Amino acid sequence: MSQFPLPPGSTIGILGGGQLGRMLALAAARLGFDIAILTPEVNSPASRVVARTIVAAYDDPAALAALAEASNVITYEFENVPAAAVERLTELGAVTAPGARALAISQDRLAEKTFLNGVGAPTVAFAQIDSQADLDRALRELGAPLLLKTRQGGYDGKGQAWVMRPAAGAEALASLGGQPAIAEAPADFRRELAAIAARGRDGEIALYPLTESHHENGVLRRANAPTKVTPRAAAEAERIAATVLSNLDYVGVLGLELFERDDGSLLVNEFAPRVHNTGHWTLDGCEVDQFEQHIRAIAGWPLGPTHAIARVEMTNLIGEEANEWRRLSAEPETRIWLYGKAEARPGRKMGHVNRLSPLRG
Ligand code: AMP
Repeated sequence: MSQFPLPPGSTIGILGGGQLGRMLALAAARLGFDIAILTPEVNSPASRVVARTIVAAYDDPAALAALAEASNVITYEFENVPAAAVERLTELGAVTAPGARALAISQDRLAEKTFLNGVGAPTVAFAQIDSQADLDRALRELGAPLLLKTRQGGYDGKGQAWVMRPAAGAEALASLGGQPAIAEAPADFRRELAAIAARGRDGEIALYPLTESHHENGVLRRANAPTKVTPRAAAEAERIAATVLSNLDYVGVLGLELFERDDGSLLVNEFAPRVHNTGHWTLDGCEVDQFEQHIRAIAGWPLGPTHAIARVEMTNLIGEEANEWRRLSAEPETRIWLYGKAEARPGRKMGHVNRLSPLRG
């Protein structure tokens, strides 16, 4: 059994080998931990910086047993890892953080919004859609337009279709290919914000300053932090983060995607049970970044400070943009983070830059 706090020299297991796993591994290594990862991807971004990589499917029993055996605590770095894999690790006696429940809820938009409302975190009005009759009812009750989203698997704006008027419902539903879906009322937001929050093993909660996020083609392009919000919005974000984290009995870092409405109130779009792209600014804008914070939390260490020490504009390097590393690396106030991905496919996140400026002035 693992004793917390984990001493340096303990092994942190990670399900997933993408850039988030890579940056978690780098943070863990700095604190003296060893890292083992399980990923189906050969030559993954994380595997290039860790000591031990198990390449196998997430549901491979021998691979899960090997990871459980090697690790003192196990986390996951993205939410397409099957929740059953995390459950299996727990059955094998491993300590996982966060747990399978947070993962399972985040994988189903209906379960997620139902959970959020249940713990007092406001969302848009929504309805379960399994048939044309469900959609007709939702259009009567919620009106048009509505945004249809598949319950599972949608990512970066995929698996979504707007129903602008009731007559267009059938076509929008067909475009989702018959998958279980939800319909959402429009959020009518003036800005998209994100909150990166952490909860330690002792229940302590820490929230980073809020981020303003900007998407292009459904993918995060830019995030600015700390962003100015009203005291009411700041307090509301804190309340929402605390209720979500406590009700999940969560340990680790969690990303909350928020809508700021015209009246300044906040709605939750979704949560990610992991470190989040909108929190990459903390790598250069905070004393303890979100990756170290996650490792601290799951290892049972005290959480680190979350206030900003610089203003940061984070820009994702997508596809060929990472080829600009020579020019970017010459910019004096720019910190460049590259993920070690060999192939710059269009739309693929290859790295990011943090452009720093003083907090005041
Ligand atoms: P999601 O896949 O849920 O993260 O949504 C991707 C993006 O679609 C969000 O970042 C918003 O820009 C937009 N979006 C999602 N849900 C709504 C909604 N109910 N109303 C308006 N825009 C939305």
